[in-house]
Amino acid sequence: MKRRTGQNPDITRTWRPATQAVRGGTARSEFGETSEALFLTSGYAYDCAADAAARFAGEQVGMTYSRLQNPTVQMLEDRIALLEGAEACRSMATGMAAMTAVLLCQLEQGDHLVGGRAAFGSCRWLTDTLLPKFGIQTTIVDARDPQAFADAVQPKTKVFFFETPANPTMDIADMAAICDIAKRHGITTVVDNAFATPALQRPMEFGADVTAYSATKMMDGQGRVLAGAVCGTATFINDVLLPFTRNTGPTLSAFNAWVVLKGLETLDLRINRQSENSLKVGRFLEKRVPRILHPGLPSHPQHDLAMRQMSACGPIFAFEVEGGRAQAHGLLDALELVDISNNIGDSRSLMTHPSSTTHYGVAEDKRIEMGVTENLLRLNVGLEDPEDVIADLDQALTKVGL
Ligand SMILES: *Cc1c(COP(=O)(O)O)cnc(C)c1O
Repeated sequence: MKRRTGQNPDITRTWRPATQAVRGGTARSEFGETSEALFLTSGYAYDCAADAAARFAGEQVGMTYSRLQNPTVQMLEDRIALLEGAEACRSMATGMAAMTAVLLCQLEQGDHLVGGRAAFGSCRWLTDTLLPKFGIQTTIVDARDPQAFADAVQPKTKVFFFETPANPTMDIADMAAICDIAKRHGITTVVDNAFATPALQRPMEFGADVTAYSATKMMDGQGRVLAGAVCGTATFINDVLLPFTRNTGPTLSAFNAWVVLKGLETLDLRINRQSENSLKVGRFLEKRVPRILHPGLPSHPQHDLAMRQMSACGPIFAFEVEGGRAQAHGLLDALELVDISNNIGDSRSLMTHPSSTTHYGVAEDKRIEMGVTENLLRLNVGLEDPEDVIADLDQALTKVGL
């Protein structure tokens, strides 16, 4: 009975990540289905009124409403927590729902946050526009320099928030050094780990308190659904994050959770193959473009740090052309195989011009400060044969005179 429908947590916890990605968190129904069941239900029925009351009082385990709990969503949360090596995880409707919730749940008027400069455009909108609107002050620093975090600390600093590698310039933050500064001041470190995922990098091993994800990217990995997640201690997730998300409702749909569960089964395979492909494409581009920012190449100024923190370089990197927006757009328009798309983590190769797309909403002076110039392009290398991706880039570069 146990074997068919349940998992023994003492055993499942000892499984290695590739095993967790396939089996972690699986909770079978009485039918013993091998693939995780999709529970499309908004509510739950109780055997008696006293059971309903006991569940609401927290005296009986069980589900009450799908904004709060759903079996499919819970399987995904358990699986991500096991992959992360975290005590607990809460999934969200999107990556941005995860970032918004993880900040707003722990900050209040008068508090202060230090954020990394190179960041996803919407994450910069949170730190630069949303938080200050509610009286939460923010200081933005170059996350490549741990001392910049130390210098920015104020008496009311509660959170350090950054991504590594950072979107789109591939800046690397030294997590051990930054988390060490945070710990000395009782500050919570939140790492946006979307680019690497727990398959390549586990920020908590470097001292991070909380990791936050856009699961839309490598976790789904096939460009199908939007999803997000936050991992942390059971105390943080249950006592700090949950009161916020239960009542504000950025809940992940069961269907999307199921799709991401399927995506996680192949995460390890995909991200490692895409990292290899990305390296091959990067080595080709390095000889053809004026500048490349690829954490897997020794030419990246923080290559050694990147490779200390990540087990492989990941599928995403940036490079520059020399003729500004006209040449960058010309290169995109000349592509035959690689799609013009601002998504990342997909099994398809995708390229975008951040200054006119993902970072369009960031003020121009801030964009330039972040290194998001008109010459910059970002490439996500997919699962196609890398020789075909190289051939496509080769012909497109030739067309624009590079
Ligand atoms: C995409 C992305 C997000 C936002 O995620 P969505 O799922 O699109 O809401 C946040 N941070 C990083 C680093 C991202 O790449």
